[in-house]
Amino acid sequence: MKRFQSIGVLLSAITTLLVVLLVAVFTIAAYGAFHRQRETAHILAVVNISRDIASAREALRVELGVMDTALAEPEPMSAQTANRIVALHGRSEQVLASVINGLWTNGGRKLTPGLAEIRKRRANYNRLLPGIIAAIRQPREQRDQDLTHDPRDAVYDLVEALDVEANAMSGDIARTDPFISEMMRISDIAWHVRADAGTDRRVMASAMAQGHAPSVKQLLAFAQTTGRIDAPWTYIREAARHPGLPSRLKAAIRNADEIYFTRYRALRRDILTRLERGERISIPGPRWLAISNPGLDSIMAVTKTALDLTEAHAGKQAARATRNFYFSIVMMFLSIGLASFTTLYVMWRIIAPLRQITRTMTTLADGNLQHPIPFGERQDEIGQFAHALRMFRDGALERQRLENELMRNRIAKETAENSNRIKSEFLANMSHELRTPLNAVIGFSDMMLHKTWGPLGAHYEEYAHLINESGNHLLNLVSDILDLAKIEAGKFAIDPQRVDICKIVRLCMQLTRRRADDQGVALTADLPEIAPAFTADPRACKQILLNLLSNAVKFTRHGGEVHVRVIVEGEHLRIAVRDNGIGIPVDALPRIGQAFEQASNDPMLAREGTGLGLALVRALVGQHGGTLRIESEENMGTTVTVELPLSQAGRKAA
Ligand code: ADP
Repeated sequence: MKRFQSIGVLLSAITTLLVVLLVAVFTIAAYGAFHRQRETAHILAVVNISRDIASAREALRVELGVMDTALAEPEPMSAQTANRIVALHGRSEQVLASVINGLWTNGGRKLTPGLAEIRKRRANYNRLLPGIIAAIRQPREQRDQDLTHDPRDAVYDLVEALDVEANAMSGDIARTDPFISEMMRISDIAWHVRADAGTDRRVMASAMAQGHAPSVKQLLAFAQTTGRIDAPWTYIREAARHPGLPSRLKAAIRNADEIYFTRYRALRRDILTRLERGERISIPGPRWLAISNPGLDSIMAVTKTALDLTEAHAGKQAARATRNFYFSIVMMFLSIGLASFTTLYVMWRIIAPLRQITRTMTTLADGNLQHPIPFGERQDEIGQFAHALRMFRDGALERQRLENELMRNRIAKETAENSNRIKSEFLANMSHELRTPLNAVIGFSDMMLHKTWGPLGAHYEEYAHLINESGNHLLNLVSDILDLAKIEAGKFAIDPQRVDICKIVRLCMQLTRRRADDQGVALTADLPEIAPAFTADPRACKQILLNLLSNAVKFTRHGGEVHVRVIVEGEHLRIAVRDNGIGIPVDALPRIGQAFEQASNDPMLAREGTGLGLALVRALVGQHGGTLRIESEENMGTTVTVELPLSQAGRKAA
């Protein structure tokens, strides 16, 4: 029983463990997905800020370019240019506001040093800008010379602060993904190329405006700027050959190559050559901007495209991470639901029934076999378990019933045996005690009949005859009872000897003949010519034949016939005593042969007998291992057949 309990506990423990494991696995997966989602969201935010920073830097550079060009002009700037500067500044401010907001949110709403620096430098630029615009509205001679340098420094300062933040950001996210790393790198390089190209354009404008051929120093500076622009661009060109690079970016790079590095560069070379020759080239500021802008824009487009692609990639990653996160959450709740269901199902359908059946088994083992067995109606293993238990219980019940019956039978048998033994002992003792006085009665009545001591009166002689007859009858009765009792008590043992059965038959016929003659009954025999080899108790054989013959004679009417037949049948000797007397009624036949059972309707005949003769014959035949058969028909006659084994030795051996 203990083992069963422990299996239940073990099963619960295993189920619980599995459930905990399942839930833990999906919880960890969900946590991982959550983490990844946050990471990708962060990357996306950083990419957006980086884009804004790039836009802000470009807007500031464009704004500065326009101001620079206006400052290079000797005349006051036109209202149109002033409006353009204001509009460009508005756009710069807008993008800067977006950058600052992004940095503020991304930095956990804390004022990081980089953000503080940007805000400070932006404020500084805004403070200077009205003065600068006012100065440009004046003709060159009337302008405050300090002011004309201020916008450049202020814008450069601000762009530098933005650069620091942009570098930090690209460093931060470049580590997370090789594609993003590559895109941020290309974007940075392109931006620096764009910045240098902007500077170069301004210097070119100044060179054209100075009104004389450029000095050697200036020419050297031009060559250096070209080198500073071309060297990093070589890296971008190399990257464009890589088959993994997105085609959109490749197209942007090709476009910049065409517009800036081919067309603009050809124009620039031509201008420089003409300037070197001492030619005067006068291109108004707005015109020069219009000529050079497409080249710079084409380089800036590379930066923007790289950032666009980064953003798209990060967006995809973020979307995938979000999907994964929700999938993990759904899986986690599903697993919790499934686990709870499994636990409940196992508890309800397996563990609880197992416990209940175990309790039932304990109750049955304690002896309460009537206890009901549950789950018999189930078709599964638990049902089979209950079924097996029921069969076991039914078997135990049946065994208990058989044991009780056996006990009752044994008690009944012992009681019967005891009473039989007591009866036999009583009869044996009583017969012995009766025989002694009976012998005296018979002996003295005999003497009286033989008139040993003188003559008797007629009446007394008749009385003496009756006394003698009654005494003999009683003695026969007592002898039969004694013999029967002895056999029943198991105290009778046959004494097997070689017996001449023909001789015994003839002797017994002789003894019965007087009575037969008196009754007018013919007594005949059919005996083998040579006596068969037959072993039996001679006294028992005599008794058997005497009893059968005397019955046959007694129950046969005058003129009837009694016939004895002895034959050998295989290993048996068959003695049949047949008469054509009164026969035995059918209903009495089964009883005949049991002690004290009589069938005769004739009270005289009945009185003559004791009902012990055939019982004794049956017992003696049984002692020899033989059989007795009575066939009779009322008023037709009776045949009593006795079959005895020829040899007692052979019988014992068998
Ligand atoms: P009994 O001393 O009365 O003859 P038995 O045991 O020898 O006792 O026989 C029992 C009864 O069987 C008899 O009383 C009689 O009714 C019946 N019986 C036995 N032998 C014969 C026979 N040959 N013919 C008719 N009835 C017989």
